[in-house]
Amino acid sequence: MLAQIENLVKLQAVELERTRLAVALRALPAEVAQAEALLAAAQSQSAKASDALSREELLRTRLDREIATHRQKTARFRVQLDSVKTPEQAAAIEHELSFAEAEAARLEDEEFASLERSEAQETALAAARAQVESLAATLENTRERISLQLKEAARELATLNAEREALRPLIEPDVLNRFDRLCGSRVTGLARAENQQCTGCRMGVRPQTWNQLREGELLTCDSCFRLLYWDPAMAPAPAQPQPEAKHKRKAAKAQPED
Ligand SMILES: [Zn+2]
Repeated sequence: MLAQIENLVKLQAVELERTRLAVALRALPAEVAQAEALLAAAQSQSAKASDALSREELLRTRLDREIATHRQKTARFRVQLDSVKTPEQAAAIEHELSFAEAEAARLEDEEFASLERSEAQETALAAARAQVESLAATLENTRERISLQLKEAARELATLNAEREALRPLIEPDVLNRFDRLCGSRVTGLARAENQQCTGCRMGVRPQTWNQLREGELLTCDSCFRLLYWDPAMAPAPAQPQPEAKHKRKAAKAQPED
């Protein structure tokens, strides 16, 4: 194979590796952002559980106060009952007394329900706090790993850039220009021909082109315009019959099989 083709093959490998690295690098910040978002959601969950608990505690403080008031009234009405003068007075006080007792009982039921809610909220809060702790650790690990990956990628990129700069001067400028333009539009600028096909676009190459390729020429694919070459080291064992009939191997007469 011509030295120029070998250098193009190497250059394309370097370019593909640089592209892979760039794609991988672009994905890294998203990983950190995702870990941050998960942690923020868990923190908000934990804050909500904590607020709910505080609200229940405030509610019970108020209920305690109201229950105490009704109990005091109950005690006062009982004392008053001892000194009533008329049945009407007694009936009125008994009415007040039973109302105060009923209210105290109702508020105690409410307080009990609040305690039950708090029990569930405490469980939720503990779970949310454990989740926050675990996600904070995950975020920390993710940041460390990403930072290492960034350093590693920067090293790889420096190596690739050095290889690239060493290879480019070894390739003819007009070939290099075409390669660069193709890389811009088609990702790869160079394609290997194999079984009378361009491996870049899978279209068949004309017999004449195929013969020239096998003589070591650097040509252009008629379909995708990639630079086309043939690599004797990659030539397959005698081919199985190809279903494609577009370019029958008429030229094979002039060219011995692999
Ligand atoms: Zn092609």
